[in-house]
Amino acid sequence: MGTVAQDGRTEGFADGVHDGRPSVAVVGGGITGLVAAYLLRQRGARVTLFEAADQVGGAIRTTRTDGFLAEHGPGAFLTSPLVEGLLDALGVGPAVVEASPSANRRYVVRDGALVPFPVRPLAMLTTPLLSPPAKLRVLMEPLVRTPSPSPDESVASFVRRRLGPEVLDYAVDPFVAGIFAGDPEQLSLRHAFPRVAELEAQHGSLSRGLMASRRRRPAPAGHEMPSEWPAPAHARARLVSFADGMQTLPEALGAALGDTVRCRCPVRLLHRQGARWVLEAGGEGAPVTCTVDAVVLATPAHVLAAMELPAELRQWSTAVERVDYPSMSTLVLGFMRDEVAHPLDGYGVLVPTVERRTLLGALFSSSLFPGRAPEGEVAISCFVGGAAGADRAREGTDLLVERLLLELRGLLGVDGEPTFVHHVYWPKGIPQYTVGYQAVKDAAASMETQHPGLYLAGNYRNGVSVGDCVAEGTEVAGRVGRFLGRRP
Ligand SMILES: Cc1cc2nc3c(=O)[nH]c(=O)nc-3n(C[C@H](O)[C@H](O)[C@H](O)COP(=O)(O)OP(=O)(O)OC[C@H]3O[C@@H](n4cnc5c(N)ncnc54)[C@H](O)[C@@H]3O)c2cc1C
Repeated sequence: MGTVAQDGRTEGFADGVHDGRPSVAVVGGGITGLVAAYLLRQRGARVTLFEAADQVGGAIRTTRTDGFLAEHGPGAFLTSPLVEGLLDALGVGPAVVEASPSANRRYVVRDGALVPFPVRPLAMLTTPLLSPPAKLRVLMEPLVRTPSPSPDESVASFVRRRLGPEVLDYAVDPFVAGIFAGDPEQLSLRHAFPRVAELEAQHGSLSRGLMASRRRRPAPAGHEMPSEWPAPAHARARLVSFADGMQTLPEALGAALGDTVRCRCPVRLLHRQGARWVLEAGGEGAPVTCTVDAVVLATPAHVLAAMELPAELRQWSTAVERVDYPSMSTLVLGFMRDEVAHPLDGYGVLVPTVERRTLLGALFSSSLFPGRAPEGEVAISCFVGGAAGADRAREGTDLLVERLLLELRGLLGVDGEPTFVHHVYWPKGIPQYTVGYQAVKDAAASMETQHPGLYLAGNYRNGVSVGDCVAEGTEVAGRVGRFLGRRP
């Protein structure tokens, strides 16, 4: 691999003309960019991955200290055949830990108390989470004939129309918070939950649609498995992490990419030069310039605003940059086991907006996976902020711990002071697929179609989960490969 020109010249770095192989720059070393770079490299491209931070992983980052394991972002992820294939290809299978079976139990707060969320349809009829009129409303769902008032309906409007306001407040709102840290009044049903929108469109009812899809054979993976990866050893979806935390995954991808990864190297400028792309990157030192055949921008959408782009790109990127990423805070709190009355026997607890609390939701991390807290102690990962309370996320650590403690004492019977506190503030958390999101998708697609060789990828395009991002990285690598293959 050639060296980076520190004086602003273009050198034989990531430069396709030097060995006949096409060159690709991937900008952003989150899970999306890493997967794209990994696959493109496996397929023979000369890849350079530029990452602004001092390590790869983006939202996926783990800190191990004082016997605790604290996740800055995701604490677990759901596998798919594609994700399993990636884990096997990377050889990290033995490091995977499956969530404890109790993870099926999820609690929701109602009137200040934890209530198990009814996972089976029949449990919906007996749960104290919903009042008898709300349960009746759920049973009547197949009879609802009121059509959607708009082709781009909000999640809240859809749920109120089909299932009633109480289901929105106590069943849907907390789960929307759990996935997007989002506000159902603002999120678009067809963009945030496209499958649910399809069920209504195809079956005229959510319950009829769900029953029909249960009767059908399991859906195919949805994404073609890269031929470079082995057939996955695990066929069923698993909720997993790694013995050493989530960072194992980006670290394994980073190690496989070797010296093609340039950390502390934010891309600041991008422009076209004939059929190729010129990037300027670098931190405080002299800029690094490179010329490549294709570029994958795998940064968060808002990053485009700070990048120097030519006018013909800016006209489209403005719509993409506006995607909202509300602030969030993650606080991993440790307690002595005997100072928490609740058995912490589940995945965690979600807090509906109507309960008006600082806590958005919490994972019972040390119940889910081994090694998250020292012997005799427990770790609870608390989330604050998101679309319905971004201001709360911006508070300092002491104030947040004080507020959370007050709530955890009532909700979980926490009696002592925390033995461990780890706070991460995310000024820009998770992208919100709000009503009108088609404008973002159209602008991103236009940037690509009007500028061959330029690709946009990331959690703001086709889903926010880690699994969605693996699929996104795979898909964009496929598109880049096809583009490069068509070149003379
Ligand atoms: C607090 C939190 C909790 C979450 N919990 C879960 C969960 O439990 N399960 C789950 O499945 N998902 C969860 N998610 C979602 C999931 O983690 C993310 O959607 C996913 O990791 C995003 O990956 P990405 O590669 O698209 O973006 P990112 O991870 O944001 O990566 C983008 C990268 O681009 C880099 N970058 C920015 N600007 C530049 C530049 N100019 N030049 C070069 N590089 C640049 C950034 O430093 C970053 O590394 C959570 C997210 C958050 C924030």
